[in-house]
Amino acid sequence: MSAGHMVLTSGINFKELSISKELRAGVFLNASGNRTDRHSILYLPPHSRLITSKENVRGNRAVFLDRDGTIVEDVGYLTSVLKLNILKGSIEGIRLLRDHFLIILVTNQSAVDRGLMSLDDLMEIHQILAGVLQREGAGPDAIYSCPHLPEIQCYCRKPQPGMVMRAHNEFSIDLGHSSLIGDNISDIIAGQRAKIPVTILVRSPKTDLINSLSVKPTHTVDNLFEASKCILTMEDSGIGNFVG
Ligand SMILES: [Zn+2]
Repeated sequence: MSAGHMVLTSGINFKELSISKELRAGVFLNASGNRTDRHSILYLPPHSRLITSKENVRGNRAVFLDRDGTIVEDVGYLTSVLKLNILKGSIEGIRLLRDHFLIILVTNQSAVDRGLMSLDDLMEIHQILAGVLQREGAGPDAIYSCPHLPEIQCYCRKPQPGMVMRAHNEFSIDLGHSSLIGDNISDIIAGQRAKIPVTILVRSPKTDLINSLSVKPTHTVDNLFEASKCILTMEDSGIGNFVG
């Protein structure tokens, strides 16, 4: 992480940041000029180890996690904190992973550009979600959101890998030793496009099983806790280096 990134990340307070303007204007520009998406929205929680330290994380390995249907209940458009419902196994799963990996959420939130909620609403949801998870020992290190409509065909909306690539560029995440967990085939495709070697499909009522016939995740499990155990088993058996 370059020093330039630190300006926005220390002492995060969304109300004072005028976040919609600054983040949408691309404050987190990628200096290297690689193709990346700078219009996705990044939230770094106050306890993010990307801000404080990475001492407990070997290398810069991450687990990328989808939000709706993977960590919290998929309620269609989650436009209010009142609709937040953390799924069974999510907290325990993230807690397990957190000892070994950075925890990075990547979520499509077109409800913003559909006008169903404001950017401030989204930020409030992520602030509260991150706070609750942190309290349970399962705090995420970063949350990337794509606010765009599908028809915009942006590079950040999954199945495009823009948000994963942005994390890679901004925080030097070692994608070759990372993994991704999601309940949709679009998650799996995004992971594959970013060349993440381990992609785990968590079954949810919305999992697209027809599409999944042609796209193969490396594993398919019932919930985030199972996915986490799966990753840690590979870790313990030495496959955790995710040969790839
Ligand atoms: Zn987008």
